[in-house]
Amino acid sequence: MNDPFFTQQKCGCGNDLNIRIMSWFTDRTICMECSDKEKDIRAKLPEHGRQHEGCGYIPEV
Ligand SMILES: [Zn+2]
Repeated sequence: MNDPFFTQQKCGCGNDLNIRIMSWFTDRTICMECSDKEKDIRAKLPEHGRQHEGCGYIPEV
């Protein structure tokens, strides 16, 4: 129905969602910039963040 993945206009950081990417950590739709940040975080996590997939928050690293 109203899937936020398609209706959400802006990312949590305020950027327009021209490109829609699913967050690794949460069920949110995020922008390219935030996705890059998640990639940095994942790179620092054990098992490349596999244990934190869909955990609902962004882990501190
Ligand atoms: Zn963003």
